[in-house]
Amino acid sequence: MMGATIALEKIKASGMRMTKQRRDLLAFLAQHADSYVTVTEVDKHMRTQYPGLSHDTIYRNVKEFEALGILEADVQGEQATVKMQCDFQHPHHHHFICQHCHRVQELQMCPLGYFESQLPGAQIESHNFELYGLCADCAAQAEH
Ligand SMILES: [Zn+2]
Ligand SMILES: [Zn+2]
Ligand SMILES: [Zn+2]
Repeated sequence: MMGATIALEKIKASGMRMTKQRRDLLAFLAQHADSYVTVTEVDKHMRTQYPGLSHDTIYRNVKEFEALGILEADVQGEQATVKMQCDFQHPHHHHFICQHCHRVQELQMCPLGYFESQLPGAQIESHNFELYGLCADCAAQAEH
């Protein structure tokens, strides 16, 4: 729950009003500290608790959290997905994603410098780098 505590502090520091709705959204996302959840699922969860809530409001809240660095966003297939920030100290990091249990592990090394040296003079504006496979637990189980 460490992440949720830091997230609360960030929200407070930004001056954003901590409504019950935002608190519930944060609590739901805190359950997804180790794996991505689709924005559609977030929407479904919130609308179960608040039937009158519009999709727009939910998406806006998600975007606000993302802008504060509380959430990490990714697109998997056609689906927009989010998860709790895994490292508030190093918001720029990369991931290893297990394709079996969907657990996300943080990779601390950023390979950008390696590629920059191969593109002298170029201006790299963004990058995306993720590894996929079986996590150690799933790999061990697969051997049995
Ligand atoms: Zn992360
Ligand atoms: Zn796994
Ligand atoms: Zn990077």
